[in-house]
Amino acid sequence: MAQAANNGERGRLSALKINWMLLLPPSLRRAGKMPEKREWCYLQPPAVFEVAPCECGNHDTQWSEFKGHLWCPECQKDFIPMHNGVFDGPIPAELAAMLGITFDRYIIETGEVERYDVKQLGWVRSTEND
Ligand SMILES: [Zn+2]
Repeated sequence: MAQAANNGERGRLSALKINWMLLLPPSLRRAGKMPEKREWCYLQPPAVFEVAPCECGNHDTQWSEFKGHLWCPECQKDFIPMHNGVFDGPIPAELAAMLGITFDRYIIETGEVERYDVKQLGWVRSTEND
């Protein structure tokens, strides 16, 4: 009788340990190195580029400060999206422009905005006259 009670106690403790592992953020569960910090991000939010939403179902995410990650304001966490939307394939720049997708970017260190020029296929420094 006492033996059975002890086994039950051990069972509960190991279940608690497993739950703790699930509570750890993915960045700690992964053995890998810290992701690199972004130097720039797109002006438009990830949802415009059809990047996968957070696992909580929130599509209204932002670019994380870490490369390859998004930030979910609902969960208050960085996460790696299941797919990268339009970035997973070759991007037809002119078609994207027609769809209202711009690749304009914000340089984090300087706070400058660079406009993506569809004809030059590159970024140009934004001017006051734009
Ligand atoms: Zn979320």
